[in-house]
Amino acid sequence: MSAMLAETRPDEATAVVEAHPGERKRVVIIGGGFAGIAAAHALRHADAEVLLIDRRNHHIFQPLLYQVATAVLSPAEIAAPIRQLEAKQRNVSVLLAEVTGVDVASRTVDAASASAGVRKIAFDYLVVATGMRPNYFGHDEFARHAPGLKNLNDAETIRAKSWARSNWRQRPRTRANARDR
Ligand SMILES: Cc1cc2nc3c(=O)[nH]c(=O)nc-3n(C[C@H](O)[C@H](O)[C@H](O)COP(=O)(O)OP(=O)(O)OC[C@H]3O[C@@H](n4cnc5c(N)ncnc54)[C@H](O)[C@@H]3O)c2cc1C
Repeated sequence: MSAMLAETRPDEATAVVEAHPGERKRVVIIGGGFAGIAAAHALRHADAEVLLIDRRNHHIFQPLLYQVATAVLSPAEIAAPIRQLEAKQRNVSVLLAEVTGVDVASRTVDAASASAGVRKIAFDYLVVATGMRPNYFGHDEFARHAPGLKNLNDAETIRAKSWARSNWRQRPRTRANARDR
């Protein structure tokens, strides 16, 4: 963890991690998906400290979620730790926390994590790259039959359901289960 977060004491309920006026600007990026990582990469030569916050430890390569859902790949094969960005780019720090609020007036975000509670983190610039969620265009009841496929939980749920279904279909034909079909 970089010096930029070292000043925060975990026992403080809403400690403020101040930006440093007169020093380098701080860019806070919320989300470590394609968009957040691309934003961090674009800032690699900027004279700024970049703090990327994600509630997950890992980046997911979403286009391969279909392969996890169909058991062609394992979840680990399409996930990579976001923290490895710190090794690749000197001006980036990664924080595992969920952003629960943004206060544009005071230029702070509330970042909640199990280990440090809620911290207010100051920013000079903010990039919101939190992804999206499925839209059923007013028919949320469709979600039961057509679940979303945006993360590993979704993929594993679909995989479990399709395996259960295919196992059920492969049961040997007996008089008892023939009645179920
Ligand atoms: C199944 C599937 C297949 C696809 N195939 C293709 C393809 O073939 N080609 C193509 O170009 N595109 C494809 N896409 C689209 C592409 O993958 C997405 O557009 C892209 O991944 C979205 O990236 P993102 O950074 O906007 O969001 P995400 O990848 O969803 O990242 C958002 C990040 O923000 C974090 N986050 C959210 N809220 C908070 C919060 N409050 N606090 C902290 N962190 C938060 C999340 O944990 C997540 O890591 C596909 C998408 C899917 C789902």
